[in-house]
Amino acid sequence: MPFNLDLFEHKLTQAFEQIKKDQSEALSIQISVNFTAGMSAAAKHKSIKSEDPQEEDGLSEEDKAEIAAMTALYLGYISEFNNKAQDQVLSKVQEIIDEGGDQDEIKQYLDDVFSGKESIVIDNTGQERKEIYVNKNLKLLEVTRTVENPFYSSVDSYVALVGATVAHTAYEAGRKAQYQNQGYDQWVFTGPADEKARPGHVALLGQVFTWGAKQSGYAERCLREPRCRHRAEVYWNDPKIDKSSEYWKQLKDEAGLYWDEEKGKWVLK
Ligand SMILES: [Zn+2]
Repeated sequence: MPFNLDLFEHKLTQAFEQIKKDQSEALSIQISVNFTAGMSAAAKHKSIKSEDPQEEDGLSEEDKAEIAAMTALYLGYISEFNNKAQDQVLSKVQEIIDEGGDQDEIKQYLDDVFSGKESIVIDNTGQERKEIYVNKNLKLLEVTRTVENPFYSSVDSYVALVGATVAHTAYEAGRKAQYQNQGYDQWVFTGPADEKARPGHVALLGQVFTWGAKQSGYAERCLREPRCRHRAEVYWNDPKIDKSSEYWKQLKDEAGLYWDEEKGKWVLK
């Protein structure tokens, strides 16, 4: 039986539509669950300072709008990846057929893609991306960077990466919503100072930001970068609770953080 490429394309589109539907359901659940978990984690701090114990546990309209916006954003990333995956699978299958390959070969290729052995290439080389740069004085700036290399990822690791980023982002957004409900408006950039952390993020440890300010928005964007494990903790403006600047300095020194004048960026030894 000859291989029917049109039928295959049709089936492949159907398969990806189902994947997208499953992923969007999973994604909105994951975002709501983590957002709510972040809110309850932040609510534990209530007893320390809040004067208004009567807070609702439910989500406000603003919270729901934020959850919807996050879902749309991450769904966009996943859709882009799925579209590339679909195009790549189709052109590879066409190539296998053109070279006289059989259905076993096609099946093997598909197994490799969906088991993660075969990478999907997202080639945005030459496109411009906005990103946050931390300068020598710990000021955050939005800079434009040109993408220099294609991005390779297997289907599984991409889903895992987006899942982890989504969970962290939604949890942080929930905490922020809860802290703001309690009337706190300042936060500290906290979290690990190890070799897995971005040096620019390590440099920001201990920095205090005011929610709503431009610098805070940039710092919050850092927290949403893939695999970032840093967090926003409330700044209590109380030396008995807040960690001292000596504490942060020591942590950064132990991590081997320094400003590389030549490279013009923060680096870890
Ligand atoms: Zn980070």
